[in-house]
Amino acid sequence: MSPSHVSSLRVPQRPIPAAMPAPRCASCHEARAALRRPSSGQALCGACFCSTFEAEVLHTVLAGHLLPPGAVVAVGASGGKDSTVLAHVLRALAPRLDISLHLVAVDEGIGGYRDAALAAVQRQAARWELPLTIVAYADLFGGWTMDAVARSTAGTGRSRSCCTFCGVLRRRALEEGARLVGATHIVTGHNADDMAETVLMNFLRGDVGRLARGGGLGSPGEGGALPRCRPLQFASQKEVVLYAHFRRLDYFSEECVYAPEAFRGHARDLLKLLETARPSVVLDLVHSAERLSLAPAARPPPPGTCSRCGALASHALCQACALLDGLNRGRPRLAIGKGRRGLDEEGAPPARPQGGDGGQEGVPASAPIPTF
Ligand code: SF4
Repeated sequence: MSPSHVSSLRVPQRPIPAAMPAPRCASCHEARAALRRPSSGQALCGACFCSTFEAEVLHTVLAGHLLPPGAVVAVGASGGKDSTVLAHVLRALAPRLDISLHLVAVDEGIGGYRDAALAAVQRQAARWELPLTIVAYADLFGGWTMDAVARSTAGTGRSRSCCTFCGVLRRRALEEGARLVGATHIVTGHNADDMAETVLMNFLRGDVGRLARGGGLGSPGEGGALPRCRPLQFASQKEVVLYAHFRRLDYFSEECVYAPEAFRGHARDLLKLLETARPSVVLDLVHSAERLSLAPAARPPPPGTCSRCGALASHALCQACALLDGLNRGRPRLAIGKGRRGLDEEGAPPARPQGGDGGQEGVPASAPIPTF
């Protein structure tokens, strides 16, 4: 891997003009401020910003009762900025939370992309002395890699939806990896921007079931699945990048080769447009989804179990088994999470793409650092 693939102090900082001295940090009142928080406009030095960021993640975990004392936590690690920041913050908080961490990385089998990302995860595990387990699609799913899926779907009209396949398989792979290491909980690095994009996509698809299910801080572990949570759910992407910058974290920032075709990109563009008119729109959308409740008639039926693997399923087969079934028969299917058509038919709208840190398709590298 070329060192240029790795973002370490990737974000250039403009020098502070001599005519405009930065104000004192609003927290310690000693150091010069290095940034204004995008969320509040508060001027902070790098050290105080990082402490505040960590305190806010701690509050999210404690207030949401996300990780009980004694939890063995599998951190979905992709090498990207979100999971890198999440692992770093949780490692700092682990003694206070009384939890232990285990990095679990998923090798989707994407040539020219995932190998370099996994190398970043391996460096993190070595530097932070955290155990690391890598699970591969090829081993878990009868030889299927994402590259093989992409080849199989090419020309079928499904080739633009690699992230849909990948998201379903990644969720399963992370669950398998977490069980393998004896984890009691799974955490993923979704940030507020990821969550807002997901809310927007579900609205645009009319997927009320996912809207209703996706609003909390995670899932409690229905049907024997491990509980999952997203401790960075209220942290904006800009602040995640700032934290990585000031903590000098080494992360991978290349975009996955399949990401440009994902529907999520349209939601991201729309969100950026909306932000210019209403800067709080990201957190507004996250909180909207939290408070959303469906009329009884619109609620999806309670899930059952997959007849093949025993995982949680809304239909005879769970999403992963249905996708693999279609791939093995040369008829890739994509219908996910859309009423009763579900996975039993082909041609229904695709599901929320997931990826990168378990829910975002290769979010591009760092956003600009605001400076004085
Ligand atoms: Fe998978 Fe993410 Fe790549 Fe999509 S962008 S194919 S979800 S790794």
